Amino acid sequence: MSKLKIAELFYSIQGEGRYMGVPSVFLRTFGCNFKCAGFGMPRGQLSTEVDAIAQIADKFKVYEELPLVSTGCDSYASWDPRFKDLSPMLTTDAIAERICEIIPHGKWRDEHLVITGGEPLLGWQRAYPDLLSHPKMTGLREITFETNGTQALTPEFAQYLKDWQWGHKDDFTREITFSVSAKLPCSGEKWEDAIRPEIVKSYQDIGANVYLKFVIATEQDFADAECAISAFRTGGFRGHVYLMPVGGVESVYALNNRRVADLAMKNGLRYSDRLQVPLFKNEWGT
Ligand code: SF4
Repeated sequence: MSKLKIAELFYSIQGEGRYMGVPSVFLRTFGCNFKCAGFGMPRGQLSTEVDAIAQIADKFKVYEELPLVSTGCDSYASWDPRFKDLSPMLTTDAIAERICEIIPHGKWRDEHLVITGGEPLLGWQRAYPDLLSHPKMTGLREITFETNGTQALTPEFAQYLKDWQWGHKDDFTREITFSVSAKLPCSGEKWEDAIRPEIVKSYQDIGANVYLKFVIATEQDFADAECAISAFRTGGFRGHVYLMPVGGVESVYALNNRRVADLAMKNGLRYSDRLQVPLFKNEWGT
């Protein structure tokens, strides 16, 4: 039986992207290849907000007690090793059991599964088939991987996903989506590490629905997004593109949402809200 290190497992409403508003189980795996310390900072500077929290990390016994941050990665505890003890290693059996406890009817109906992070396509790819093929996952019809778009699928997992989506006998369709939040320079990550058209194209090649989602704070971010879109299109990407306002806390989100919606309309792109911010204040577990 496989195991996964799980930062969070909760039931909520998807607040972003294609499935906005859909009741969803969120499985947040531990670990990320990026830090994204540039979010919310003047260009070229990196946030140290989490360092102050890390100094008193022992004080926090559960995720819900951790402070929210307004700069850097808003899910910092899902990858920062200083908070790793808050993320238990669970068997796929235990995860499937827990999912049945948190969905309303004890079994999958119209809920959607979001596998997120951190970066969920790191080494955990080897464990997902055990989870997705678990008897308690019967009835699941839609899965989204929320990824930064830098991790290739292993050949084994790519084949598993193709079989999961197309090789079943259910009387309903199944769909796999990759929500690719490619990181622009405002994240503090390097362009050549973050913008990987060949990887994103490979998700599309297994027959999945793939879309791009860019976090926008400034005109410069939008100019960077346009360059990235062009690179992805040149690399064969055919999916939709969403612009989403920066803002893991309400005050920042409220300054940006209308402006980013206007930018999306003006440029014929899709707007993604962050419903979890106005609805739930983006607290852990939402
Ligand atoms: S890729 Fe996502 S989870 Fe990883 S550091 Fe950046 S914002 Fe955080």
